[in-house]
Amino acid sequence: MSNKGITPREEDYSQWYFDILERAELAENSSVRGCMVIKPYGYAIWENIQKNLDKMIKDAGVKNAYFPLFIPKSFFSKEASHVKGFAKECAIVTHYRLKENEAGDGVEVDENSKLEEELVVRPTSETIMYDTFSRWVSSWRDLPLKINQWANIVRWERRTRPFLRTTEFLWQEGHTVHSTHEESVQEVMDRLEMYVQFARDFLAMETYHGRKSESEKFAGAVNTYGVEAMMQDGKALQFGTSHDLGQNFAKAFGIQFTDTDGETKLPWQTSWGVSTRMMGALIMTHSDDNGLVLPPNIAPIKVVVVPIFNNENKEKVLSVASEIVKSLKKEVDAVELDERDFVSPGFKFNEWEKKGVPVRIEIGERDIESNNSVVVRRDTGEKESIGYEILASKVSDILSQIQENLLSKSKDNLVSKTHRVADFEEMKSVLKGDGGFVLTGWCGSEDCENSIKYYTKATTMCLIKDGEGKKGRCVYCGKESNDEWLFAKAY
Ligand SMILES: [Zn+2]
Repeated sequence: MSNKGITPREEDYSQWYFDILERAELAENSSVRGCMVIKPYGYAIWENIQKNLDKMIKDAGVKNAYFPLFIPKSFFSKEASHVKGFAKECAIVTHYRLKENEAGDGVEVDENSKLEEELVVRPTSETIMYDTFSRWVSSWRDLPLKINQWANIVRWERRTRPFLRTTEFLWQEGHTVHSTHEESVQEVMDRLEMYVQFARDFLAMETYHGRKSESEKFAGAVNTYGVEAMMQDGKALQFGTSHDLGQNFAKAFGIQFTDTDGETKLPWQTSWGVSTRMMGALIMTHSDDNGLVLPPNIAPIKVVVVPIFNNENKEKVLSVASEIVKSLKKEVDAVELDERDFVSPGFKFNEWEKKGVPVRIEIGERDIESNNSVVVRRDTGEKESIGYEILASKVSDILSQIQENLLSKSKDNLVSKTHRVADFEEMKSVLKGDGGFVLTGWCGSEDCENSIKYYTKATTMCLIKDGEGKKGRCVYCGKESNDEWLFAKAY
């Protein structure tokens, strides 16, 4: 429990983020550098993300499975560009035993326990899964194969920040195998749209999505598509990707199938995922200087009822409050009664505000006499007095309004922070100023992309549908460009 204040965004955006993590009790750094502890309240949000997204994944005909945390090192040399992409951030298991050291005051690695083949702690699971898929797939009857796993992942990051970039993180990774490229490309786009829809319906976040550039695509993929969100500080955050893997991995791992025409063919594959990075995006999209703000559809507690009592009227107030909670639960899930008598109502208001609970209901003796309760919205701070008989249905309406309001604010933020620029000078000045997304022509050359990054720190985010085929001039070299790309400085 903490009642300390939160650093305002204007003063120090990064500290504001850390303050929210701490004061809303979402996560904290652990004794292992770069690895976070996700605290119960933060984990409850992740569980809600998991539960709702898992349903969408299963509705798409995908089944959950689980694969090993360890991958034989040799698997990584099978797909050349894949290993190149992950080589610099792999954790490797070389031994499996400790022994007492000679001084007898500690332990050391037992050199006699050296592994014959070293194991890589999964930075992603394509290799271990596709080795397995090569035994699961032999005929057109086995396709499409659609598998998802919820797992932890390790990428040895140097600069970390809870949820946004951590050495170990949680995610889901979907992997599918198809008999035609047309079908696998459809899967890539469907899963991308699924993430966009999930962000909208549950996280109240409006995003851009589209194809990533060659240099930004997944190691080993033919094409990568990303979902990009805009944070309040003008920096973008990619929180989901969907990859068209072509036949690259099928070739490398010997996945083959006999088609209906009797011929042996290579299948087409996809992979797609979102991680606990989504939590970072969620926190930074809606929260304000008073703390976390959560969309009702993902909040672990949607409504908190705070009874205001003293020693004399405690029993009476609590019994009315319990009745109200009971009636609320008929229309709204995730309602909590804060019965604690060792902290003041003011302390409670403050604490629930920091935790971003969408609706707070206050009930005191005077309210009881008039059959009223005070209902406070977290998103706008609006207070309203509402009678008991209509309270449940009113609160249910207010929750929907909050969800809508947060989505519309996110949409406004996305639109107002998207700038179409005419030349490089304008691009530099936008990115040096308030930041945001920059829409502009780019010739597609990696040299121009690198120069833009060097001078502005902005990278290509993706090619959105509206930008496809929009002819113009490359913002950097001035040559003709076929498409208009989305650039931004990103997390
Ligand atoms: Zn150019």
